Amino acid sequence: MNRAEDLEVAGRTVLVRADLNVPLDSGAITDDGRIRASLPTMRDLLARGAAVIVCAHLGRPTGDDYPARAAGGPSLRPVADRLAELLGRPVTLAGDVAGESASVIATTMGAGEAALLENVRFEPAETSKDDQVRGELAGRLAALADMYVGDGFGAMHRKHASVYDTPRLLPHAAGQLVLAEVTVLRQLTTSPARPYVVVLGGAKVSDKLAVIGNLVSKADRLLIAGGMAYTFLAAQGHRIGDSILQADQLGQVTTVLADAARAGVELVLPVDHVVADRFAADARPEVVPGPDIPDGTMGMDIGPATRDLFARKLADAKTVFWNGPPGVFEFPAFAAGTRAVAEAIGAVTGLTVVGGGDSAAAVRHLNLPPDAFTHISTGGGASLEYLEGRALPGLAALEDGT
Ligand code: ADP
Ligand code: MG
Repeated sequence: MNRAEDLEVAGRTVLVRADLNVPLDSGAITDDGRIRASLPTMRDLLARGAAVIVCAHLGRPTGDDYPARAAGGPSLRPVADRLAELLGRPVTLAGDVAGESASVIATTMGAGEAALLENVRFEPAETSKDDQVRGELAGRLAALADMYVGDGFGAMHRKHASVYDTPRLLPHAAGQLVLAEVTVLRQLTTSPARPYVVVLGGAKVSDKLAVIGNLVSKADRLLIAGGMAYTFLAAQGHRIGDSILQADQLGQVTTVLADAARAGVELVLPVDHVVADRFAADARPEVVPGPDIPDGTMGMDIGPATRDLFARKLADAKTVFWNGPPGVFEFPAFAAGTRAVAEAIGAVTGLTVVGGGDSAAAVRHLNLPPDAFTHISTGGGASLEYLEGRALPGLAALEDGT
């Protein structure tokens, strides 16, 4: 894969596909981690005399055509403003993605100047399954620049026009964020130092079954918590009350349990819980001292015995991958499990990687020192698909040709 740092960019216009898909609360950015992670590549290109045009998506615009989506938003306006602050220079926001406004900006901007295209998902073609439809948009995007840099790791698992088709039309290279992410994820998949412990949580077991399937043969221990743990406990015949259950996944989960046993992988489930009688921030937390959850209550977090158990299972780890919070950390009364797991991983000396948008947000939200981990991945779906052993379309496009 070519490196953006090796491209001759002075006096050239470079299209950078970044992942600036930040969480917004009534138009205000609540966590700018992804913007910050995109800065090194942009700064390097600008400092070396490139004109940088950034392309990114935000949220999920709906509507059948461009005008409907652009009217409904979200616009990248708040992201352009934050990016300008962080870069310490103006960032011109185009009035469209790859239309009249973008072309005028592209042809008039000079060396060391930065611009941002509007939300690329205003263009329905961005996510089209039709190669020709995506190709037409990719052609318009490519016409804006001389070169393409792929640095939006969080979007690399998407076969989208700006991720997959555009790099094929221009000389292309990978940005620093993408290279850093791939370097770390490769370490997790090829000869990780042992014991290798994987901690999985989050809401839905269906999101994580594929990665569990792949990690069962690689990890030494799998610690499973969060909403997904209840489907495992149910599969073992435990009572789970009103906890989140994916009944259609029980068969798959039973297979995973058998596979883990056969592979000699230690699969550790919660042995106690913090429950509530409803899913709310002000619900009263109650500790249930055993794996079974009483009727009328739902599991919201791992209990104190599980926190200790997980900490012991992590203590001697040399490699850790953590994806998915083990409890509903957004509600302070149910954040102790997430904090305990994060602290136990922080104490590990070895390679520690946090993947997943909500997990990364939890680390910031709980004010844990970010340097407690070797790497906090910006890509949730992308890092999981990489660990599942699947080829990421965006990476494949950057690896192709020159
Ligand atoms: P990531 O984005 O890191 O991959 P997920 O999206 O899989 O993580 O899951 C994050 C969500 O899982 C959080 O919003 C959290 O509240 C939720 N969650 C964790 N534990 C539970 C639980 N016991 N019941 C319901 N939801 C849970
Ligand atoms: Mg998530």
